Amino acid sequence: MRLSDLEIAQAAQVEPIETIAARLGLASGEWLPWGRNIAKVDPAVARGERHPDSRYIDVTAITPTPLGEGKTTTTVGLTQGLGAIGRKGMCAIRQPSQGPTFGIKGGAAGGGYSQVLPMEEFNLHLTGDIHAITAAHNLIAAAIDNQMYHESRWSDAFFQKRGIEKVHIDPYEISWNRVVDLNDRSLRSVVTGLGALADGPLRQGGFDITVASELMAVLALARDLRDLRERIGRIVVALDRGGAPVTTEDLGVAGAATVLLRDALWPNLLQTLEGQPAFVHAGPFANIAHGNSSVMADRIALTQGGFLVTESGFGADIGMEKFFDIKCRVSGLMPDAVVLVATIRALKMHGGGPAVTPGRPLPQEYCQENLELLRSGLDNLRAHIRIAGLFGVPLVVAVNAFDTDTEGELALVRDAALQAGAADAVVTHHHARGGEGALALAEAVARAADAPRTTSPSPLYDLSLPLEEKLRTVATRVYGARDIELSPLARRQIARYEEEGYGTMPVCIAKTHLSLSHDPALKNAPENFIFPVRELRPSAGAGFVYALAGDIRTMPGLPSVPAFRGIDIDVETGRVQGLF
Ligand code: ADP
Ligand code: MG
Repeated sequence: MRLSDLEIAQAAQVEPIETIAARLGLASGEWLPWGRNIAKVDPAVARGERHPDSRYIDVTAITPTPLGEGKTTTTVGLTQGLGAIGRKGMCAIRQPSQGPTFGIKGGAAGGGYSQVLPMEEFNLHLTGDIHAITAAHNLIAAAIDNQMYHESRWSDAFFQKRGIEKVHIDPYEISWNRVVDLNDRSLRSVVTGLGALADGPLRQGGFDITVASELMAVLALARDLRDLRERIGRIVVALDRGGAPVTTEDLGVAGAATVLLRDALWPNLLQTLEGQPAFVHAGPFANIAHGNSSVMADRIALTQGGFLVTESGFGADIGMEKFFDIKCRVSGLMPDAVVLVATIRALKMHGGGPAVTPGRPLPQEYCQENLELLRSGLDNLRAHIRIAGLFGVPLVVAVNAFDTDTEGELALVRDAALQAGAADAVVTHHHARGGEGALALAEAVARAADAPRTTSPSPLYDLSLPLEEKLRTVATRVYGARDIELSPLARRQIARYEEEGYGTMPVCIAKTHLSLSHDPALKNAPENFIFPVRELRPSAGAGFVYALAGDIRTMPGLPSVPAFRGIDIDVETGRVQGLF
């Protein structure tokens, strides 16, 4: 009988966290226990130099089906595989939001025999970092309304006497919503401040899911506490009546918001099913934010030597591009190799297979051999191999094997990957067999990362390019667009943001992950399309300008049969049931 992910996780022996911390190389004063199986690691460790024998690996994927093609599972499986070939492996992944946990079923802690433990804590509150972000974010929201309330009541002299200035927030130019870490479509647009004068100000607002908060992107990018404090202070929450940006510093709330995130800056240390150290820290969106786990965890891990395997969100066109152009620029760390996860099912979908829908059985085409369909979808794989090549990094293609894949199908993908220029391409079975199923992948990655460099990895574009050129560079060189088209609004915003000094920031493009283009219906490797940019916004604290190409929901809704319906607790043992 096939066990569920939760059953596998609950049957596993979880080692005491001191064993894991020692395996990582940490001294006892460098971490704090959070119960028996989780620790928080002191950011001070990150001040050390990168260990000369460290290897940094980023895991990305081809354009996925809505089910996900196994980046997290492969990140964990490769880490376990490295252990199985006698190398020191560690991984660093994002903390999942509670939105998907209770919404659409789909494990975030890996799957099968490649998981992070303890799985229940991982998928629920963990050590409260996301809740801390909710609190800090809503404190800033309260500061905005409070400022408007008191400014509407009292004279300039009243404020001067108290040593603070009037900010004159324009109520129609507030860009800071409130947040909650749940899918709740009813909160997308709300009216706050109903009641009497003292209950105001009355205004329309809204909620985003916490992981879409700019504070989440800031936490993920902060190099240390000072950097965290400075980034929070730069966050723009509104415009004043003269059209000038209003920051959290202007509202006097940046310090208090940082205080709420003091513990959240400490990366969480968990473990893989086979006892390798696993950092789980920060979880920014991969569209309006950069979609990568924290700089802090990576810096800490790389001081300790060994292989650090991390995952960037969505496909190589999105999360990996942002890994190089946003995260690596901030951290100053460049990877030694990239792993591109491909699956037969996704390639068949790109070849013209029927739609794949979460919660529904896979159509027949995906459950039996169909080399024709598979061959037609290989251009998507080739496009992603080409994209990785733009960043000058050795690429290993990991064909993530499912039960239904045939030898012929797996061989076809491997051969195509090698022909398209991947440094190596291997079939991997870690989901079914753990580290022992990922021996070939671990060997291939170790070989690629250990080999002397012929090229040096680098970001795609120079920060001094104008914003429009940065957008064009990503759209044409990465997505394969013929050109970009800026809406009149986007054009005006670019001019304004360059004037305000945001022009030298990297761009963070928010587009669908279901296509290389902006249109989820365009599968495989679309060509000759014009990439539309509708609107831009600076995330001044995170340090990028994001651009919207398509509708991006920052507060998801729940499906008709939400995952929470299957979740319960055994009241005798206290064990969680039905979590994936
Ligand atoms: P990603 O990180 O790319 O979104 P995940 O690693 O979370 O993908 O995997 C998505 C889902 O697919 C998970 O539920 C995982 O358990 C499942 N999965 C991944 N690889 C396999 C495999 N080889 N066989 C069966 N299920 C798999
Ligand atoms: Mg994942």
